[in-house]
Amino acid sequence: MKIAVLGGDGFCGWPSSLHLSASGHDVTIVDSLVRRRADDELGVQSLTPIEPLDVRVAVWKDVSGRIIDNVDLDIAHDYDGLVSMLDDVRPDVVVHFAEQRSAPYSMKSPAHKRYTADNNINATHNVLAAIVQSGRDVHLVHLGTMGVYGYESVPLDLPEGYLTVSYPDNNGVMRDREILYPTRPGSVYHLTKSMDQLMFQFYAQNDGVRITDLHQGIVWGTQTAETEQDVRLINRFDYDGDYGTVLNRFLVQAAIGYPLTVHGSGGQTRAFININDSIECIRLAVESGDEVGNRVRVMNQMTETHKVADLADLVADKVGAQIDHQVNPRAEADENALSVRNDRLLGLGLDPVRLDSDLLTAEIELGKHYAHRIDMSRIPCRSYWNRDRQSAAEE
Ligand code: NAD
Repeated sequence: MKIAVLGGDGFCGWPSSLHLSASGHDVTIVDSLVRRRADDELGVQSLTPIEPLDVRVAVWKDVSGRIIDNVDLDIAHDYDGLVSMLDDVRPDVVVHFAEQRSAPYSMKSPAHKRYTADNNINATHNVLAAIVQSGRDVHLVHLGTMGVYGYESVPLDLPEGYLTVSYPDNNGVMRDREILYPTRPGSVYHLTKSMDQLMFQFYAQNDGVRITDLHQGIVWGTQTAETEQDVRLINRFDYDGDYGTVLNRFLVQAAIGYPLTVHGSGGQTRAFININDSIECIRLAVESGDEVGNRVRVMNQMTETHKVADLADLVADKVGAQIDHQVNPRAEADENALSVRNDRLLGLGLDPVRLDSDLLTAEIELGKHYAHRIDMSRIPCRSYWNRDRQSAAEE
């Protein structure tokens, strides 16, 4: 298949592009490189030394003999460029990773809130409008997040996107209706992902666009079979307080003997997935597009759930690290239960990588190898959800 990967230079997008290419698909990466500029803005760098995108794709050609094309385009603000790209590439599938994806970054200031809303909502809407304008039968695969469901402790396995509700009509007759599972976004970033869902519902109904929305858990790990083939293909690894996701942050902290920073009690339960499973799920979603009709296919892309405090203990036990409980910068429940259905991806053949695998140790070793690149002052999260949280942290 011909596949345009929007955001293909990012943490999930780069290894997914390589995996799709290695699986025999013709891949074009479309990226504005805004994520690399966010590193400059924040004064941080990936733990791993990532090469410029043109070097990455040239190395991949040498290593694999396969060509990945590369288009520099801001899909949120260059609509004509997006339409031209679709005309030139003529993709069968568009995989959409191209959004600002950090919740703390989205809450840093009014400017960051507005940037995240502007970038993410325009990016998604532009993609949908451009697909319709192209007149082509394109399957859109979008990376959403488990976070849209919110973290209420409901004694229910979270369904894959939809909930059937029963309600009495005006005559007292009970009616059933399937609705999108009600969202409860916990940041401006999650708010944009919640709004993406409505845009998908509309374009699927109105224009028959075939859409798969993958509600992904927190991704951990870095390297994949493809990125390990040459050091210049190495994947991005964010460890800082804005972009570092919780388990990857713990692994780097463990590698350099820095106390593991647990926000609040650590009683928050979250859904996780290894990067190797994430890219495999993308491939499975891409290759099963024929199943998708004008009802958005939602799949929960996660493999296990854990309490943050348990993860910290697991990592601390491996290396003898300390744990440092800090004021939670986020406005969220101290504790929650979470149980999730992921039948659809398992049904497509996903064979999950478990958290206690050797991969955890391999990631700590990677952290040790690149420890000289770590700026410890960038590890704490300095983004507060509201003034009360900031005051508590400053006390
Ligand atoms: P990332 O920031 O590493 O990558 C995103 C890429 O998109 C970057 O290369 C960036 O330059 C590009 N981009 C952003 N806006 C763009 C625009 N307007 N035009 C063109 N390119 C643009 O993020 P990631 O971790 O790879 O996440 C990718 C997707 O997966 C996101 O949508 C995110 O919400 C979702 N996701 C990620 C995680 C995770 O743990 N990393 C978890 C759940 C969901």
